[in-house]
Formats: sequence, structure tokens, C-alpha cells
Amino acid sequence: MSVQRTAIVSGAARGIGAAVARRFAADGHRVGVLDLDESACQVVVEEITAAGGSALAVGADVSDAEQVDAAVARVAQELGAPTILVNNAGIIRDNLLFKMSVEDWDAVMGVHLRGAFNLCKAVQAYQTVEKYGRVVNLSSTSALGNRGQVNYSAAKAGMQGLTKTLAIELGRFGVTANAIAPGFIQTEMTAATAERVGVGFEDFIAYAAKEIPVQRVGQPEDIAATASFLCSEEAGFVSGQVIYVAGGPKD
Ligand code: NAP
Repeated sequence: MSVQRTAIVSGAARGIGAAVARRFAADGHRVGVLDLDESACQVVVEEITAAGGSALAVGADVSDAEQVDAAVARVAQELGAPTILVNNAGIIRDNLLFKMSVEDWDAVMGVHLRGAFNLCKAVQAYQTVEKYGRVVNLSSTSALGNRGQVNYSAAKAGMQGLTKTLAIELGRFGVTANAIAPGFIQTEMTAATAERVGVGFEDFIAYAAKEIPVQRVGQPEDIAATASFLCSEEAGFVSGQVIYVAGGPKD
């Protein structure tokens, strides 16, 4: 049984973040379930506590440094020093370059990159004191380029650079940093994409599955299992890596 730690998972009210929060609780960690709306986190917190785990709902916009600092301080006070961090909060604002507004560019950069920066900065203050830490940043196969996602693919490639530099800077404090780059995962985010392109979600999933070597789309639990390993004690020599969890190879 590994040591019980305090984890913060952003964007954890639903989708991949909620699955990671539930998995961390099952792994024995206390979990700060952070999302824009605190009340939206309550369902996940109640699931965790009903299963005998420990969790706290925290509302914060990750792109706002003051809100992030306050949220991290609250988690530290109520659950203990946070040493595990998963930067999962994300949005899409897809459009072809010539139609994309500067607001949609900035919004995506703000949540993914500034959000991860804000949380990493707040949490490293605890990790460096504790001489232990695990950071997982959510990238995407879109980092390799994806039509209609010039903002999102730039942000997700940026998450990989952020991860590698964190690994270099924080390694001496016992902190590892890795990125998970999921392929198609069945969540509200991919449901919204199906709606935008005018295809029913079931058909969208069936079409995507045919193109994936393992012949299925991913589930949030696929990402949670990978995050669980990367945030375990025994993954201490894995750092600065980008792991594509996409049912097949990507490069
Ligand atoms: P999702 O279902 O849309 O969930 C994202 C969560 O992030 C939502 O609860 C959302 O809250 C929250 N969020 C958005 N902006 C925020 C902010 N400024 N501060 C705090 N929380 C915020 O998405 P998902 O599919 O689970 O994706 C999770 C992560 O994986 C994202 O980083 C995404 O880019 C990445 N990813 C997903 C896929 C996929 O196929 N699904 C593939 C590759 C990578 P609201 O509901 O209030 O907006």
C-alpha cells in the first residue's frame, strides 16, 4: 500500500478529471476536486466519500492566479499539503484559422497553459518543502496537428514543453512531471465536437473506433489508470515523458 498523499485534479467535475479523482481516491489519496463551479464538484466528492475516501470540492477558474492560490491553500488546510497535481481542466474553441477570433485563441491558452502554470506554481511550493511530487499534464494527440484546432493544438504542444521543463527544474526535489496525450476519449468534450460537425455521437464514436488500432474509443478510466501509475511512488524514475494513450501509436 503506497503512502496516502493529497492530490489536486483540475476540471474534475466530469469526464476525464472526474475519473482521475475517483481513481486517486481508490488508490488511497485525499483528493481536491477542482472545477469552475464548486457545486458541480459535489457529485464526485459524494461518490468518493460514499466509497470511504476523502475529497473536497473546490471552485476556481484555473486561468486566474488569485483563485488558484486560494483554492490550493484551502486544499492544503483541509486535506494536507498537495503533492500530486493533475492539470486536466480544458476547453475547446475550434475553428479554421481564418475564422478563429483572438478571444477563442486567448481563452484556450488561458485555461490550458496559464491554468497549468498557475497550478504548478502554487503546488510546487508544497512539493519542494515535502521533497516529493507528481505532476501530470493533459496534452492531446492534437498536439501533433489537427484541422480546426490551431489554438488547442498549440496549447497541447505547449503542455508538453511545460512538462519537460518542470521535470528538469523540479527533479531535484523528488518531483516528477509527465504528460498524457489522449486520443479520442468518450466525454462531453468529444460529444460537443460531434454536435459541432453535425454527426450523432454514437455514429461519431463508431467512425472514430474504426480508425483506432484497438478498434474502440477511449474511456476516462483509460486515462485515470495511466495517471494512477504516473502518480505512484514506483513511477519515480519516469519523468519528462509524453505518453500517448490513444489505442495505437502516435508520433
Ligand atoms: P470535459 O468533459 O469538457 O471536462 C473539462 C472540465 O474542465 C469541465 O468540468 C470544465 O468545467 C472544466 N474547466 C473548463 N474551464 C475551466 C477553468 N477555467 N477552470 C477550471 N475548470 C475548467 O473534457 P474532457 O474530455 O474530460 O477533457 C479533460 C482534459 O483532457 C482536457 O484538458 C482535454 O483537452 C484533454 N483531452 C481530452 C480528449 C478527449 O477526447 N475527450 C482528448 C485529448 C485530450 P465546465 O463544465 O464548468 O466548463
